Amino acid sequence: MGRAVVGVAVTVAVATCAVAAVVVGRRVRSRRKWNKVASVVRELEEGCDTSVGRLRQVVDAMAVEMHAGLASEGGSKLKMLLTFVDNLPNGTERGTYYALHLGGTNFRVLRLQLSGQPSPNLEHDVEVERQPIPEDVMTSTTEDLFNFIASSLKDFIAKEPDGSNISQDRRELGFTFSFPVKQMSVSSGILIKWTKGFSIRDSVGRDVAACLQEALTRKGLDVRVAALVNDTVGTLAVGHYHDPDTVAAIIIGTGTNACYLERIDAIIKCQGLLMTSGRMVVNMEWGNFWSSHLPRTVYDIDLDAESPNPNDQGFEKMISGMYLGDIVRRVILKMSLESDVFGPISPKLSMPFILRTPLMAAMHEDDSPDLREVARILNDIFEIPDVPLKARKIVVKVCDVVTRRAARLAAAGIVGILKKIGRDGSGGITGGRSRNDMKMRRTVVAIEGGLYSKYSLFREYLREAVKEILGQDIAKHVILKILSLTTAALMTLPLSIFVRNIGR
Ligand code: ADP
Ligand code: MG
Repeated sequence: MGRAVVGVAVTVAVATCAVAAVVVGRRVRSRRKWNKVASVVRELEEGCDTSVGRLRQVVDAMAVEMHAGLASEGGSKLKMLLTFVDNLPNGTERGTYYALHLGGTNFRVLRLQLSGQPSPNLEHDVEVERQPIPEDVMTSTTEDLFNFIASSLKDFIAKEPDGSNISQDRRELGFTFSFPVKQMSVSSGILIKWTKGFSIRDSVGRDVAACLQEALTRKGLDVRVAALVNDTVGTLAVGHYHDPDTVAAIIIGTGTNACYLERIDAIIKCQGLLMTSGRMVVNMEWGNFWSSHLPRTVYDIDLDAESPNPNDQGFEKMISGMYLGDIVRRVILKMSLESDVFGPISPKLSMPFILRTPLMAAMHEDDSPDLREVARILNDIFEIPDVPLKARKIVVKVCDVVTRRAARLAAAGIVGILKKIGRDGSGGITGGRSRNDMKMRRTVVAIEGGLYSKYSLFREYLREAVKEILGQDIAKHVILKILSLTTAALMTLPLSIFVRNIGR
């Protein structure tokens, strides 16, 4: 009897130990898998370091590269393209204007009436039609692309109400073209390369304004392409129309770019050019900026290597909306490979660009207590169901790290421009480093693009970083203004009236 009791007790004890061992084993394994995920995140954070010290190095590098790009053709990865725009609209423009805007994902046709008085709300005076660019057109032939554009304009004009006061003999048109162009005059320029997913090989090296003009003629439209400008220049023009203290414009959308007003004598590579105002807008093509100070991770290296344009647009690949979602996807894939906190590895995680930046932003900005939106998106996009809350929190953290780095690098780029033109409070090239608040002039930077205007955390991080780099006393003179996408293209035409067409 006694032996039986002991026997039962021993069995129970053994069983308990076994259960305990299993539980402990599971716990250890569980801790190990969470540790693995945590170390992926830690490495990501270290790799994405944007301490203010590092940002200042990026600021300096940006200013140095700007100098180099202005000194000689090919002097820097920054192309610092001349635009031949030396005067910006100021509100006194009058007339009916048409514009076409070929951006990254959308194509817009616009019409605007200007009264000769500054309009406080340009958007009300604008007719806009927006169309997504069909994917096959983005990769077809030059002729197909421009035929598509010309047809859209033709339909737009055909819809004009009869009896409207648009009675021009010949319509004039501004073409806002958001790709790098070597400008020959204000109304002509050669495509240097496509970016943002466009790849139409036979357009590189051709005058895109002439291509458009030919397509308009083919469609029987009596419209003259009067100006060809980059979207950054359009943005600067609108910024200046509203506020003459505007000195630079930044685009942060599918891609990223910047332009600013430079003194003619600082543009060494165009010696001999006479511009009436002594200034010219320079299109930096800053998406291609590169510096060893940029915080680069293995995810960036892989993304670049697998892209259609490796070693190109390095700054853009860390900042803009085309890429942020994909960086996050790569990190989630890595975590999924390292541990099973996301369950079995979903094949969707290996699909490039499956996570679009707006959805990444939606996860980042999910403020529900159980991160319901994060769970939904992980399920919908990656087909990963039932992700535990702890793992969802990690995904939010990853979005945060990637977005914060992007916004802070863009901020460093902006301060780099301000430094180059002596608006960073350091006294510029002439003065010493005394941070004299009194000398600092009101300085407005216009910013346009979906990533900036629709992603509030991105905006906050960018603004915060500008303050950190410049210090509160200087930063209070720097105003970052959001500009709307629709109006940017509009200033193309009034611009053409004001510019001196040197290259013609
Ligand atoms: P484009 O750059 O093509 O001219 P936009 O300026 O409208 O067009 O920017 C579109 C880009 O902005 C998208 O590719 C996307 O990456 C980003 N974006 C749009 N909406 C959001 C959003 N809600 N949150 C974050 N990013 C967004
Ligand atoms: Mg755009």
